[in-house]
Amino acid sequence: MFSRHVSRAVAIARSVATGAADRKLLLRQLFEPASCTYTYVIADARSRDAVVIDPVLETAPRDLRLLRELRLRVRWAVNTHVHADHVTGSGALRLALSCPTAISGASGARADRLLGEGEELRFGAFALQVRPTPGHTPGCITLVLDDQSAAFTGDALLIRGCGRTDFQQGCPRTLYRSIHEQIFTLPESCHIYPGHDYCGHTVSTVGEEKRLNPRLTLSEDEFVRVMDGLGLPRPKLMDVAVPANLRCGIQDDAA
Ligand code: FE
Repeated sequence: MFSRHVSRAVAIARSVATGAADRKLLLRQLFEPASCTYTYVIADARSRDAVVIDPVLETAPRDLRLLRELRLRVRWAVNTHVHADHVTGSGALRLALSCPTAISGASGARADRLLGEGEELRFGAFALQVRPTPGHTPGCITLVLDDQSAAFTGDALLIRGCGRTDFQQGCPRTLYRSIHEQIFTLPESCHIYPGHDYCGHTVSTVGEEKRLNPRLTLSEDEFVRVMDGLGLPRPKLMDVAVPANLRCGIQDDAA
């Protein structure tokens, strides 16, 4: 009896705290192995409105099948930035579903909607809020769920790592400040969903990365020195991917 009352009280407190008693989120993390890219489907489980984050061209058929199976209606296909390692699937989703595409205005890419700081992508009773997190590229954004329980960080913050800063006008000092000012100011419990992972990790939290990320626990000057000395090879697909992604992967001129 007592425990039932306690759990009911906790449930009520939780719903008051989030103001989300009538909301139910659906989240799917999808993996593309060639470029180790994560695509996210995030949806309002009640209204079935969805946003697809960072789809990949090669896995667009899989994503379309899942969207059909789950009976989701895509409100936005959004890219966190102009990718250099894969061609985005946002153009393919747009062609198949007539859903609009979105990317930051600072990216220099074409899309149906060019996003600015503080703008929202709404889906049902939820919204993703845009936080500019430049440094990997000048147009990188982090998409934060409106209750700040989840952040989709693209290639700004990775799990125990971060995006490279040695091409596409990258800047390590800018990236360091973006992560500290725009991501590490979120609640410690906020889940971090990155754009890639190369070690098999799937999700982290702000608190975990603040304590354990080997790059972001450095001072700004140390971080810049480490990033400038990485000596990474050029992405194999870069010369194909960047021009295609500046058009959001859309191959016809009507878009
Ligand atoms: Fe990238």
